[in-house]
Amino acid sequence: MTMLASLNPATGDVVGEVPVTSPDEVQTAVHRARSAQPAWAALGLEGRARVLKRAADIFTERVDMHAELMTREQGKPLREARAEARGLGSGLAHEVDEMVEALAPDLMESDGHRSTIYHDPLGVVGAITPWNFPMSMPNWMVLPSLMAGNTVVLKPSEETPLCGQAYADVLNEVLPEDVLVVVHGADDQGKALVQSDADMIAFTGSREVGKHIMREASGTLKRVVLELGGKDPMIVLDDADIEKAAKFAAFNSFRNCGQVCVSTERIFVLESIADEFEAALTQLASALRVGDGLEESDVGPMVNAQQRDHVLAQIDAAVGAGATVLTGGDGHHDNFVTPTVLTGVTEMMDIGTVETFGPVACVTRVASVDEAVERANDTHFGLGAVVFGGDTEETESVARRLTAGMIGVNRSAGGVPGTPWVGARESGFGFHKSKDGHRQFTQTRVLTRPVR
Ligand code: NAD
Repeated sequence: MTMLASLNPATGDVVGEVPVTSPDEVQTAVHRARSAQPAWAALGLEGRARVLKRAADIFTERVDMHAELMTREQGKPLREARAEARGLGSGLAHEVDEMVEALAPDLMESDGHRSTIYHDPLGVVGAITPWNFPMSMPNWMVLPSLMAGNTVVLKPSEETPLCGQAYADVLNEVLPEDVLVVVHGADDQGKALVQSDADMIAFTGSREVGKHIMREASGTLKRVVLELGGKDPMIVLDDADIEKAAKFAAFNSFRNCGQVCVSTERIFVLESIADEFEAALTQLASALRVGDGLEESDVGPMVNAQQRDHVLAQIDAAVGAGATVLTGGDGHHDNFVTPTVLTGVTEMMDIGTVETFGPVACVTRVASVDEAVERANDTHFGLGAVVFGGDTEETESVARRLTAGMIGVNRSAGGVPGTPWVGARESGFGFHKSKDGHRQFTQTRVLTRPVR
């Protein structure tokens, strides 16, 4: 049996290993999930909700264990890993209730006729997930799929197979056999899942792979939900609270070592406040402690050497093309990169247009609000965007001109609970969470009859 070894990015040590699923076995996994689907669907919405809610306590009991595993396998600081692990248990009952509400049939009547709109299961959902939130990303796709009455074949990232397995192990303690099947491997196993006869592919990952999946799925018109990368802008207006804006920029450029789809990757600052903003951001960035996430550190390692090299190459090329390093700018040691602030970044540089996914805050000074908006929107991506400015209608009107799917004013981009997580343009196809998000995992079916 071929094994996949999972390495600790901070130390290079083997954290554990999982058996690799051969591409042929991926189709077998889909068959197993398909056999289990009718009985799972027959439990009904309330029945499935009861089963899944039993997992909440198990997730809660395992917070410390899951957090430590996430830090060892993916590298994020333990504090961030704990928050991710805690959310799985504490949020589960509420999320399930929200799904029950979203997936219940709707009724409409007109001219003596009544239509019932059912949200039926699709069948088998293939979920393909990334490594950066190695337990919550599977949860975002597996939970609504199961609540809708589908069964699921989950392929976690090859960088974090142990976290994916640990997540599924909890659900499999409460689920009937084969309702959730895990397959392990890399792109070959992902491709096999897309080519299998699964009814839907729910994918979170890079834009390039998302495009590949959409092309492959078109052969059978397989449903797809694609949550892809970003190059999120932040605009800092001249009436912004500069300290607050710098704090946000530091937090959102460096958390999870910048390996977040809605990381702040481009900062457009009005010239008049740029000196002050850059000074505040540089001070915050240079105070961050770099090190193994199991120790007292703020910024852990990049997930692997390839990701580190990509980030360092982008920094070097930007400096070669005229950007200035205000702090950092180099490899720290091994897979670690020093938190970096660059200024003078332009769209002529790779780092100004291509997703970095690393601990770099890129500042561009602009002469006007119009220039800030135009440059913020000058991208194929469209996941999140933020505007910092005075508490005025003007700040909000700047936000309304941005072309991202989620826009934050004086805060992060994601909406309040119950709102969709949605990418615009090439950052996404479909969305997660919210009533509409949950319904994507279903086949809508309308039954109409005369009112009795
Ligand atoms: P990735 O696209 O390299 O891999 C994601 C998953 O797809 C992995 O499980 C991988 O094995 C699998 N895969 C690779 N090639 C495949 C193929 N041809 N067919 C099918 N499956 C394939 O992404 P990654 O490096 O794991 O994650 C980082 C990316 O994810 C970033 O671009 C980030 O912005 C994005 N992301 C987006 C969101 C969001 O909500 N929009 C959330 C988290 C991460």
